[in-house]
Amino acid sequence: MSDKCEEKRPHVAIIGSGLVGVIFALGLLKRNIKVTLYEQSHDLNELGAGIAFTGVAQECMRQLDPRILEALRRVGNENVTAYNRYVDGYSQVTGEQREEDPTFEPLFFQLPIDGMKFWACHRAHFLNELAKLLPGNVIVFQKRLATYVDDENRPTVMLHFEDGSMAEADAVIGCDGIKSRVRQVLLGPDNPASLPSYTHRAAYRAVVPIEAAAAAIGTDKANNQCLHMGPGSHVLNYPLANYTLMNIVIFLRDWDVWPNIEKMAGSAHKTEVASAFAHWGPAVRSIIELLPEELAKWAIFDLGTHPVPFYAKGRVCMAGDAAHGSAPHHGAGAGFGVEDALALASILEEMEESTHIVQALHAFSSVRYERTQWLVRSSRETADIYEWTYHESGSDPDKCKEQIEQRTRKIWDYDVDAMVTEAKEVYRASFQFSTVNK
Ligand SMILES: Cc1cc2nc3c(=O)[nH]c(=O)nc-3n(C[C@H](O)[C@H](O)[C@H](O)COP(=O)(O)OP(=O)(O)OC[C@H]3O[C@@H](n4cnc5c(N)ncnc54)[C@H](O)[C@@H]3O)c2cc1C
Repeated sequence: MSDKCEEKRPHVAIIGSGLVGVIFALGLLKRNIKVTLYEQSHDLNELGAGIAFTGVAQECMRQLDPRILEALRRVGNENVTAYNRYVDGYSQVTGEQREEDPTFEPLFFQLPIDGMKFWACHRAHFLNELAKLLPGNVIVFQKRLATYVDDENRPTVMLHFEDGSMAEADAVIGCDGIKSRVRQVLLGPDNPASLPSYTHRAAYRAVVPIEAAAAAIGTDKANNQCLHMGPGSHVLNYPLANYTLMNIVIFLRDWDVWPNIEKMAGSAHKTEVASAFAHWGPAVRSIIELLPEELAKWAIFDLGTHPVPFYAKGRVCMAGDAAHGSAPHHGAGAGFGVEDALALASILEEMEESTHIVQALHAFSSVRYERTQWLVRSSRETADIYEWTYHESGSDPDKCKEQIEQRTRKIWDYDVDAMVTEAKEVYRASFQFSTVNK
């Protein structure tokens, strides 16, 4: 690329090196856009838990940089089952089926996932694999953003970190997760949408060896994704790491106030979970038995109570959980963040002058807003469907299936090429109709 052309490309600062920040950075580098990632932690900061990606998210990875998808292939495994299964984990069943299989659960419904190409992996393994693709000087650790100043009279946005240091960039993208500092500054401290709220559900997570899981609930269930439904709670299991591990996520209602928004994760004792499922069916109780005595507990926060009104202002915007942090019941938050990354990278690649950054970020916000806000709302409703409290479906298997099917199809059937085309068109059109947030 010529020096002249490089001058027209912006220098982008990404706040946060979670999965979305790192994937977005790789997509920008692939497009010869200069990027610096600022991360508050001293190292890459992912959990020892599982994550699954839809075919749509994988297509976005491929278009961002094919090496991202190759990294997923190295550390993950494809879910080869033909169906996602939803079983009644609660009802006590007697008779022949239980005698044959002591952990038998009635099938509530199943959704065909042939051709959906789900891939699951261990989060930390994937993030580490991705980080190997970044040049050494791209991530700056131990830089916790305190605030930024986007003064239109200055050529760049100034970043201020908590250690007193500063940096500047042509554009700032907050990929700093559900507790985003970028969002707080962008929307202002008095805007209730600046902060996430507790959904009054907690997730308990553990990863166990697949042999132990197969011995407890049978090889078939251990090797395939299975969602155990029931009143007020639900349990999800799926295989990880080439069928060597089984990921377990247990969701429980919690009507208490979460004490500290700064600390959304903690630990819990197995008995806390076991007592909540004491009257459930034997398969769920066997899964609980597999848990270690101490396990990880996450408060589920989202941005659903006070929806974020827009994602971009001036030369700053948000992507991933920072923009649309959702409850995890669709298992699609990171995938939607990868879609964001492709939309934004495609627009920035299209930019002819780095001074057009305001229009570029505004185009990103308007293209991604509707779909991602839908995810925030639908994720909450999906938990209610799983727990038989959603008003339109209750505990009726056919109605639950109809609800889940139309929602998941909206996630799975997204046209990535159309999104990229629309993103570029909206960006170009923004020079004709200027209504951007400055
Ligand atoms: C139980 C559970 C299961 C899930 N399963 C799935 C799934 O199967 N598939 C899926 O697609 N999604 C899933 N999700 C959602 C997914 O985990 C998130 O959407 C995704 O991890 C968000 O990534 P992110 O990079 O936007 O944010 P994060 O992963 O939160 O990363 C934010 C980064 O920013 C850094 N940071 C924060 N503040 C600052 C600051 N002020 N300065 C500098 N750095 C900062 C943090 O240290 C962190 O590294 C699940 C979520 C949960 C809770």
